[in-house]
Amino acid sequence: MSKVALVYVENYEYSNVLNAVKKGIDLIGGIDKFIKTSDKVLLKPNFLAAEVAEKSVTTHPSVFNAIGTILTEKNISVSYGDSPGIGKVDGIAKKSGIYSVAERLGIKLVSFDEKETVFFERGKQNKSFTIAKTIKEHDALISLPKLKTHALTTLTGAIKNQFGCVPGSLKAQFHLKIPDLNNFTKMLVDLNELINPKLIIMDAIVAMEGNGPRSGSPRKLNVLLFSSDAIAIDAVASRIVSVNPKDVPTVKNGFLSGFGVKSEDEIEIVGDNIEKFIVHDFEMPHKKRSALRLLASMTNTKLGKKIFNIFLSKPVIIESICIKCGVCVEVCPVTPLALNFEKNGKTSPPEYDYSKCIKCYCCQELCPHRAIKLKGIF
Ligand code: SF4
Ligand code: SF4
Repeated sequence: MSKVALVYVENYEYSNVLNAVKKGIDLIGGIDKFIKTSDKVLLKPNFLAAEVAEKSVTTHPSVFNAIGTILTEKNISVSYGDSPGIGKVDGIAKKSGIYSVAERLGIKLVSFDEKETVFFERGKQNKSFTIAKTIKEHDALISLPKLKTHALTTLTGAIKNQFGCVPGSLKAQFHLKIPDLNNFTKMLVDLNELINPKLIIMDAIVAMEGNGPRSGSPRKLNVLLFSSDAIAIDAVASRIVSVNPKDVPTVKNGFLSGFGVKSEDEIEIVGDNIEKFIVHDFEMPHKKRSALRLLASMTNTKLGKKIFNIFLSKPVIIESICIKCGVCVEVCPVTPLALNFEKNGKTSPPEYDYSKCIKCYCCQELCPHRAIKLKGIF
């Protein structure tokens, strides 16, 4: 059994969040159960891109402030970091509001640029990972994910948050090496087992719905989730937004991995009643629930994959919003590029060549101007 604690939080006012974080950690056993006073702790927020906290793209600074305060008051050595898909981490930390909180608490921002390759025999999809060296130099990682929709993985929560431990552009290479959604999410579960966060505090006070993980809309859910089991916490988060956890590929493969809980029956929810938080109209990035996408992605025949690809949502640019900044072109992992400015220079938005597109949605994920949407059946 794994415990997941749910605590109602009215808003991001610091005193509310601090009380909730203290309560949530106590509900799953208390901070001493997860962190020793001699530990070097690494806090891992979601630093997807440089956006203000109100946009709900990044973990809210009040959540960081609360856990940072609890740890530093116990004289525990704490650092924080992440490796975003694009942009510099200090700029993202500043814009999110976390940088100033960390400065005040004496929590150092560590670089994720230096890499090391770690072998991981137990991996089902991946037997080795190149991760930020600093991770293994710490004794414990506390993951601080934000609950958001995600075009590729349906939802991003605890399991997906650890993908930031893979430095910068190396993340894009995973999309190339493992374009298949099912196998890609198996890899994320392997990575999560390797990183093994000691504690997870998920920020869903205001989550993100719709065209996430960057271009969606903030959605108030008024809840913080706590657990030491990434699979269990993601499963409960899925239920809160009325998605069957088995339709979320990271959770489905998490159940199968044996790393955490194997089914929802093994989850004990403590704290506030989940019914208080469940919403039935949480807007997803795809028209259809991802069960179909996942099922289709598992087909192994050439014809099956071809048919699947026809119906799979494709990214499209909304020309009236696009400012031709080129971020989407920069992050596209395929060579030759599946979208570029070749035809008209930068006089008009980049154009897609869908025959080359692997539908990783990195362009949609990182467009800073909400100019890319998904179009398709599933
Ligand atoms: S990232 Fe967005 S705004 Fe920039 S060129 Fe691409 S679609 Fe246009
Ligand atoms: S065009 Fe977009 S979805 Fe297609 S491969 Fe490039 S980044 Fe991925």
